[in-house]
Amino acid sequence: MAVEGAVTDIERIRREALACTRCRLAEGRTQVVWAAGNLDSDVLFIGEAPGFHEDRQGVPFVGAAGQLLDTLLGEIGLDRTRVAIVNVVKCRPPGNRDPLPDEIDACRPYLEAQLEHMKPRVIVTLGNFATRFILEQPIGISRARGHAYRRRGATVIPTFHPAAALRGSRFGGLSPVDAIRADLRRVRAVLDGTPAASPVPAALDEAPAESEPDAAEQLGLF
Ligand code: SF4
Repeated sequence: MAVEGAVTDIERIRREALACTRCRLAEGRTQVVWAAGNLDSDVLFIGEAPGFHEDRQGVPFVGAAGQLLDTLLGEIGLDRTRVAIVNVVKCRPPGNRDPLPDEIDACRPYLEAQLEHMKPRVIVTLGNFATRFILEQPIGISRARGHAYRRRGATVIPTFHPAAALRGSRFGGLSPVDAIRADLRRVRAVLDGTPAASPVPAALDEAPAESEPDAAEQLGLF
């Protein structure tokens, strides 16, 4: 039974994160960007790191990439009350550079805590860093995309990061935005229990990955 005024584990960890100085990213941030949406929902989107607008507002995915994600979520009947959105690292890297391995390791306990709290049914990894974090393989998103995986009790659907998709060129006749759209249809299908309802285009970029996906862990969704 919940005790009035009690602090849940995830709230305690959130408060800890907001004051975190575990890595050098603490030095340049405006604020820690913990999460957006509903951490009690079934779907967790994981991006890379806060950007300029996220750092200022303290909310993940609030710029053009966030607007694109919201639009695409709306197309499958979801919004930020029905999903959670977080990043691999919670503070903005200077100049929007990639997060470094030691920064990802330092921030790992916070994402692990979010995963443990949510126990999501579906994890959507947005781009290379989140995909590698969850799949625990040095795989590129272009190779990982187009498959579903089973990890942490969830169906994992890797897709392009919306920011990269906005900058990206077409692959095989399909725009990166349409590729995300197709992947999100799979999210809807998994939630509806109809994973084989509609085919999804295969991975768009056939550039070889550093490591093949674990075939035994791939699901036959795509
Ligand atoms: S990025 Fe993560 S580990 Fe580094 S200071 Fe921010 S919250 Fe702490």
